[in-house]
Amino acid sequence: MILKISMILRKSLTFYALSYSGSTITPGEISLAHHGVLFLDELPEFKRATLETLRQPIESGQIIISRASGTMTFPSRFMLAAAMNPCPCGYLGDARRRCSCSPSQIARYKQKISGPLLDRFDLMMEVPAVDPKLLTAAPTGESSATIRERVEQARNIQTQRYEDTTIKYNAMLSGKSLKQFCPLSTSCQEIISQAVDQLSLSARAFDRIIKVARTIADLAGEVDILEHHLYEAIQYRSFETKLRT
Ligand SMILES: [Zn+2]
Repeated sequence: MILKISMILRKSLTFYALSYSGSTITPGEISLAHHGVLFLDELPEFKRATLETLRQPIESGQIIISRASGTMTFPSRFMLAAAMNPCPCGYLGDARRRCSCSPSQIARYKQKISGPLLDRFDLMMEVPAVDPKLLTAAPTGESSATIRERVEQARNIQTQRYEDTTIKYNAMLSGKSLKQFCPLSTSCQEIISQAVDQLSLSARAFDRIIKVARTIADLAGEVDILEHHLYEAIQYRSFETKLRT
């Protein structure tokens, strides 16, 4: 597997590039990240219009460029990863440093990420500042090799499950195929309906929770999506509620 990582550090993102004469269109960064990871650091620092334009390739895996000379389609199926601070100064909620931002500055900062864009993230995690002592301590937990093995097993399960279809992995499920390959028990249906009500989630978020739960079940080697897989998938969206308030 070839993994491409595009780290965008200058707070702008190109969707396509034009030649000097303007006659030739070439793929931009979101197409260079095709089948790789597109990492946007300090997400709220990007222009809102740029972030909103990302919605199309996230959904369809391609970007359509319309110019006077014609329309071009470039592939752009990437895994989007992004990071942001809790506030403009970065210290909101920090036990050691005091945040210097006003409530309106914090609200404006959060509002830079629109609801529809947030909707398109599968996993959202709030990560506390790292204790400097931990940076020099010996690593604990599983090794990357062990995790890789589990991921490869999950990918093999998905390859077998979708062998007669054009689907390659869970993220590509939608509508009919989602219902076909991710049936939910009555208790799981109740759990997800309750979460949608309580967290005011959209239909898109509903589908994404089921796909994440399917992946969690695959990583555990389980045939069916069980209640605890759904609960885990739902808690990856709880940060969304915090960003919206
Ligand atoms: Zn702050």
